[in-house]
Amino acid sequence: MSHTVEILSVGTELLLGNIANTDAQMLSQGLSELGLNVFWHTVVGDNLQRAQEAVALAKQRADIIITTGGLGPTCDDLTKNVLAQAFGKKLVFDEDSAQRIRSYFARTKRPMTDNNLQQAMLPEGCTVLVNDWGTAPGCAFEADGVHVIMLPGPPSECRPMFQYRARPYLLSLSEGVIASHTIKLFGIGESSMEAQLRDQMNAMTNPTLAPYAKEGECELRVTAKAADDGEAQALLRPTVAQVKELFGDKVYGVDVPSLEYVVIQGLKEKGLTLGTAESCTGGLIAKRLTDVPGASQVFKGGIVSYTNEIKENVLRVPEHLLDQFGAVSREVAAAMAEGARQLLGCDIALSSTGVAGPGQDDWENEVGTMFVAIATPESTYVRALNLGNRPMRERLRTQTASHAFDLVRRYLSGLDFGN
Ligand code: ATP
Ligand code: MG
Repeated sequence: MSHTVEILSVGTELLLGNIANTDAQMLSQGLSELGLNVFWHTVVGDNLQRAQEAVALAKQRADIIITTGGLGPTCDDLTKNVLAQAFGKKLVFDEDSAQRIRSYFARTKRPMTDNNLQQAMLPEGCTVLVNDWGTAPGCAFEADGVHVIMLPGPPSECRPMFQYRARPYLLSLSEGVIASHTIKLFGIGESSMEAQLRDQMNAMTNPTLAPYAKEGECELRVTAKAADDGEAQALLRPTVAQVKELFGDKVYGVDVPSLEYVVIQGLKEKGLTLGTAESCTGGLIAKRLTDVPGASQVFKGGIVSYTNEIKENVLRVPEHLLDQFGAVSREVAAAMAEGARQLLGCDIALSSTGVAGPGQDDWENEVGTMFVAIATPESTYVRALNLGNRPMRERLRTQTASHAFDLVRRYLSGLDFGN
């Protein structure tokens, strides 16, 4: 049976725009991985009547309701009361939860006021979702053909409570297993990826294909439901192969965390070292490489050569190139990568130079004009990028760094450097 889910987030601060509903986003991602259909996100303030109305509506249309927030000890925390009432359940005192709350305060050496024990009042007969990340326990119950799961609001609690408490509960609702693979792509826009897959995606029921785009990268998640894992994998295999074939060398990995991870792994496998010379990315390439555990085995180091002075005196970029072409140029990008390769004594070096905005540079290069270069033992290659002129420095720099990684993974896989 397929389930329909409504996420009901409770909190006036969400309606006032003080905070974004990141809990709902996180939950939606996790739920779609479980193959559950999230049909509604609802936000309601800490107001009894409107919360009751929201719950009544959710109860009519969804068979799984997941609430976030309003489980705490203060009087605006009304989620449990409203849900219990809507499903005709009494709130009863749960001694185990009370004990946990008392020991949480003892452990964190904070004074406990009596209202904290209100958090131990839970709907009768519910499954308690023990909160090891805060004080308010969550809970789950089934009534009137609807599964209700209540999770705390703070994201640092909501995320692990979903992962380690709600997720296993939800898995037990579905017969059989749900398995998925994530195919990662670089160098293709989300809309063009979707356009190539739309008919297929709409026609598929098991497995399903879900696209996802983030900061210049795309992902496709293939999810299958089956009696056991072997059967699920057999369902997934042809679709994964088909997607890989369709997108060819735009696919940089399956079930891998990131481009930089693929780069570090590839360098390790080949026994090669890497160094960087960064201008417009200001160290972001090095930062992202060193986010990967074990990067020290292959990443030697990097220079942030933000000024011409450093490009010339440290990286030995010839003065005449800077004078003739300017710092943001194909020629200087190449010379930076070659200079870094020499200076750092590594097999491969990457460089970046460009205009991250908000305005044009002195050479009237538009914002988003970027060059990334790779110097290898065989040759040097420069990729010119025009990343659009919306002045968002962070986005431009992230994408530029990703393009640099793309050059390395293409080199390591023996692919052409094509854009
Ligand atoms: P507490 O025990 O801290 O009171 P709670 O379960 O009662 O937890 P709320 O009081 O609703 O949760 O929210 C506590 C804090 O958690 C909010 O101030 C906000 O910072 C954060 N928060 C609540 N709901 C969300 C949400 N949907 N998305 C992101 N953050 C949230
Ligand atoms: Mg609260």
